[in-house]
Amino acid sequence: MVTSACGSSAKRVSTAWHLAPEARALVADEQLEEQMYRALEAAATTGTDPGISGYHVRAATVVVHEGEEHVVVGGNTEYVVPEAIHGETSLLNHAANLFGAEATRASVRFVAFYSSGVCGAGGSCGDCRDYQIAKTDYENLLVVCGQASDGTVRVSRFADTLVPVERMPLVAVDALGLPEADVARLLEAATGARRGGIDLFTSAERHLGAAALSMGGRLYRAAGADDAAFHYRYPIGGVLQQAATEGDYHLRAVLVVGEPGTWPEISYRDRQYGFEFSSFNLEKNKPPVILIVGDGEGHYRVSTFEEALPEAFSTRSFMPDRVESFLEEHDGGSDGAE
Ligand SMILES: [Zn+2]
Repeated sequence: MVTSACGSSAKRVSTAWHLAPEARALVADEQLEEQMYRALEAAATTGTDPGISGYHVRAATVVVHEGEEHVVVGGNTEYVVPEAIHGETSLLNHAANLFGAEATRASVRFVAFYSSGVCGAGGSCGDCRDYQIAKTDYENLLVVCGQASDGTVRVSRFADTLVPVERMPLVAVDALGLPEADVARLLEAATGARRGGIDLFTSAERHLGAAALSMGGRLYRAAGADDAAFHYRYPIGGVLQQAATEGDYHLRAVLVVGEPGTWPEISYRDRQYGFEFSSFNLEKNKPPVILIVGDGEGHYRVSTFEEALPEAFSTRSFMPDRVESFLEEHDGGSDGAE
């Protein structure tokens, strides 16, 4: 049994939570440890509505406001096509609603997830990474998972799931893993795409163009597009949707550009789209999609969506059989040989 030490909000908790030995290095003070246990206890009973996936995300944290600690919860809900409000975004939005954005940013030290079974390995989806970067002191944010099966509490650093574009290796144009003529085609297409799109609200440095080359040699391009509802359409997502519309599920490379002379800041949400698409290649024992980032002045960085989105999940993680049968049904001849 663990009992909260925090004044009027003290309450007896039902699971004997205990830090995994390796978590001790990240959780030095007892107050923080106590907060984590209280959050997990609240997360355990957080309401969710995952009507499509059946996958419950029950999250909680502690916000300090006017000297008092408050446990705040968040959970996922799903609707129609499928869309979802995710546990992490729900949680931080809830914290800001109750105690303000500044208290949230200044005092949230962790996001805790309650797992009714065993903690999985996956990190947040790309969009939740973007949201946590925007709304928390993310460089110091901890990710906590408490597994109810034995009370073990695992802790990791949120920042370990991030790969800033500037950290991707700089590579000469002839070492990108593509013929130079293909790089030139991709660059021209992505640069041209960026001249279009919709940037009524988007800053110039966030407005990006993307192009993709399929294994069958087809080229696709798209630019970012914003709107008044702030349902942003991402450039990589746009390119992948076009390829998928043509039944072209196996891409060789995606190239992204931003303002000439700058490195485009590729959102984690867009990396999530790329990661999912690349999983189609892996399913068919093809190489992962090459992610090329250009500064528009002849310099390139190279990565893969697997490297650019550490600890990611895709449909293939949850439903490998479904992905296999989907590709069996849809792969008929459009992608060509490698
Ligand atoms: Zn998410």
